Amino acid sequence: MTVEDVQIFIGNIIHCKSRLNLEVIKPGFVIVIGSKIAAVGEETELPHKLTQLQLKSCVATRVLKKSQILIPGLIDTHLHAPQYPNCGLGYDKPLLEWLNTYIYELEKQYVDLDFSRRVYKAVVRKTLSNGTTTACYYGCLFNESTNILVDTVVEYGQRALIGKINMTRLAPEEYLETPEDSIANTKKFVKYVFEKESDLVLPIITPRFALSVTMELMKELGQIAKLGDLHIQTHISENAEEVKLVESTYGMPYAQVYDKANLLTRKTILGHGIYLSDEEIKLLVERGTAVSHCPDSNLCLKSGLCNVRKLLENGVKVGLGTDISGGASPSIIKAMKTCLDVSIAKSFHVTEVKPLNYEEVFYLATLGGSEALAMENKIGNFDVHKEFDALIIDMGINIEDYFIGCDPREILQKFIYTGDDRNVASVYVAGVEVK
Ligand SMILES: [Zn+2]
Repeated sequence: MTVEDVQIFIGNIIHCKSRLNLEVIKPGFVIVIGSKIAAVGEETELPHKLTQLQLKSCVATRVLKKSQILIPGLIDTHLHAPQYPNCGLGYDKPLLEWLNTYIYELEKQYVDLDFSRRVYKAVVRKTLSNGTTTACYYGCLFNESTNILVDTVVEYGQRALIGKINMTRLAPEEYLETPEDSIANTKKFVKYVFEKESDLVLPIITPRFALSVTMELMKELGQIAKLGDLHIQTHISENAEEVKLVESTYGMPYAQVYDKANLLTRKTILGHGIYLSDEEIKLLVERGTAVSHCPDSNLCLKSGLCNVRKLLENGVKVGLGTDISGGASPSIIKAMKTCLDVSIAKSFHVTEVKPLNYEEVFYLATLGGSEALAMENKIGNFDVHKEFDALIIDMGINIEDYFIGCDPREILQKFIYTGDDRNVASVYVAGVEVK
């Protein structure tokens, strides 16, 4: 170990130890060696810890200001990188028409690799700037383009899961693949990601959704995931009309369709899950499968209001997603606020729903996201031995905001309700400062 491998952060620290346990260390320290957290504690314990770790000569110490807090990096569990140019556009149509009118037309343009490069660079930089240290991306249909997304996250130092999507039905001819190509190209893509030999990026098996593929193809994809112990992502129960169509196509409830194809595992994350029945929720819990809640998208596409409280209380793992460009904003900071809004709106007409609070949405965007991606042993909070993915949040940057408090909980609340990328002073992924 050299001195350069060691970093110390001193200041107010907030992270979730579990869903209902927000820990505030005021003031505290984190010692980072290489990419990993070596020690965490109250500032008074620091000299003892340094001696214990034989780190007396370390110089790389960053002392936070009173207006700053250190929090774990934010996790976006569902977003479509190729749809980034469409953020904020085309919300005049519901899901299925929206896909046909705008999305497939946009995504098929990614045969153009220059265009791919420009868009992916923009989306990775934008999400990093908003504090997204881990992103679970849908790519497009094309391998060459999705490979560029892999290269881009590695270049900019973002942690990511990336999937080349599978789609053999119900899109324009030129934006479909044959089942044979779909399987062969998926295998090729997985190989490409592993050959990058990056600790930051993993492949994820990504059938777009039940209506875009067939049972046979889904079963083969389930087999690829099983053999490689790979993550899986797809969409479920986003829109009432879509749910009906899936049930009439397959003759069974939505979650059962994926279960029949062996796509529900503890490394599976399903986007949305608004209209899941009690039986479907039970099935997800049994399989250890997670839901990515995407509140901004659910409002923009008028899909519905997800009862996140119910999912959590039944034991479903839940993370937060921006779902750009179903969602208009690539910011997971904004997703936390919109999650609160949706939860409050839901409580108006389902009176037994207690709205989520700021601590709970912070959990969803950090530790909850890591659990939803089955990466809780690696990221999500500041437990010793985890990777140091972290943000320095500063709510004192703008005198016009007139924020006079310096209590760390108040800083966190202010950030969730009023913050944006300007308040993300620094971003660290695996111990490396990337903003
Ligand atoms: Zn989506």
